[in-house]
Amino acid sequence: MKKLLILGAGTAGTMVANRMARLLGPDEWQITLVDQNETHYYQPGFLFIPFGIYSKNDVIKPKRDFIPNGAELIMSPIESIDPEHNQVTLAKGNRTLSYDFLVIATGSQVHPEQTPGLLEHEWRNSIHEFYTIDGAVTLAKHLRTWQGGRMLVNVVENPIKCPVAPLEFLMLADWFFHEQGVRERVDITFATPLPGAFTKPVASRYLGDILEQKGIKVVPEFMVEHVDPDAKKIVSYDEQELEYDLLVSIPLNMGDEVIAKSGLGDELNFIPVDKNTFLHPKYANVFVLGDAANIPTSKAGSVAHFAVDCSSHNFLRCIDGLEMLPTFDGHANCFIESGFGKGLLIDFNYEVEPLPGRYPLPGVGPFSLLQESEFNHWGKMMFRWMYWNLLLKGQELPLPALMSMAGKWNK
Ligand SMILES: Cc1cc2nc3c(=O)[nH]c(=O)nc-3n(C[C@H](O)[C@H](O)[C@H](O)COP(=O)(O)OP(=O)(O)OC[C@H]3O[C@@H](n4cnc5c(N)ncnc54)[C@H](O)[C@@H]3O)c2cc1C
Repeated sequence: MKKLLILGAGTAGTMVANRMARLLGPDEWQITLVDQNETHYYQPGFLFIPFGIYSKNDVIKPKRDFIPNGAELIMSPIESIDPEHNQVTLAKGNRTLSYDFLVIATGSQVHPEQTPGLLEHEWRNSIHEFYTIDGAVTLAKHLRTWQGGRMLVNVVENPIKCPVAPLEFLMLADWFFHEQGVRERVDITFATPLPGAFTKPVASRYLGDILEQKGIKVVPEFMVEHVDPDAKKIVSYDEQELEYDLLVSIPLNMGDEVIAKSGLGDELNFIPVDKNTFLHPKYANVFVLGDAANIPTSKAGSVAHFAVDCSSHNFLRCIDGLEMLPTFDGHANCFIESGFGKGLLIDFNYEVEPLPGRYPLPGVGPFSLLQESEFNHWGKMMFRWMYWNLLLKGQELPLPALMSMAGKWNK
């Protein structure tokens, strides 16, 4: 039997296991996944928890429910990866697994301890985050009784998972405080290391305008150096200071420690790979999918889905000894919840930045691109059903894996 070993049974690892289980002969291949945590989290749902729209139960399911028949799921932290000898060591029982092909899908996690002052006595009191389940649930409790004041949302550094999530948080906060009847008592500010609201110029302009209309102030190019939890202020490297009553931080995102220990990562523990094939530049039997990869597109579940669509047939070429095709174009798309039952949609790739227009979807669409609509809000809310029922199971969706210019206004 040949062995396909997948590290991480999150979004990307589960999708690739399901897809490959269908494509590879069960008599020839043993598929094994390793993960340290029994629970699968629908992370896009974390955004809605602070505002009471979802609860914890709405975003969790057992990982085992999504593992394909015949595949093995081993629950253990991964201790180290040794690509020179095609081996992975697990923390539990000091067990060693060998492989013919390896997929690394260990994702990205937040690291508040990397910013001085963030993870001190005010953590989870006046300083919060919503990128983990515990953080989102604690923030929900805090917001239920918060009397208002200065709410400061700060991205410590990029790249972060789902780069639009902080903007969605800001716009949902604006809606939430209106609903609570306290909006006039809340000052909402967004401090970002980027030159504007978002990474790409056209989207940054559109999204920046929407934030302004909602009375949300943007402080660009703010590189936080430390947090002063007693004085309740964040201080940048160039000594700008911003005061807050409630700080919602998006802490530094990093790849898993095992990547650093195994000598595979960059300074943030993300793994450099070929951006079109996901193949490791040095190891011809090692692929990296999902947030763990250092590629110049968004760290998003949608990217992982398009990546699996593009790479599965390429993977078959690889195991047949054929040259891989440079198929993946960096395609990413994301609904952006903007509050008051509306949302936007962005769709882009390595070459084409998010543009306005219409996103055609046979039988359902079109969805409006970079413009608010109720239809986009329903798209966002439907995404959770699609995630559990189609995406994770590695089903084909009626969405092209490669980005299309159809409907986009090219200006
Ligand atoms: C607040 C928020 C909102 C988001 N919104 C969207 C959205 O609207 N649209 C979208 O497309 N994406 C969104 N995302 C991003 C999306 O959730 C991630 O990009 C996606 O889950 C990445 O999948 P992954 O498989 O790479 O990582 P994960 O799904 O995080 O899986 C990684 C897995 O590896 C395991 N693992 C890691 N290290 C080890 C180890 N040493 N030993 C054992 N197991 C290990 C972990 O336990 C985990 O199960 C959002 C994320 C957040 C946090």
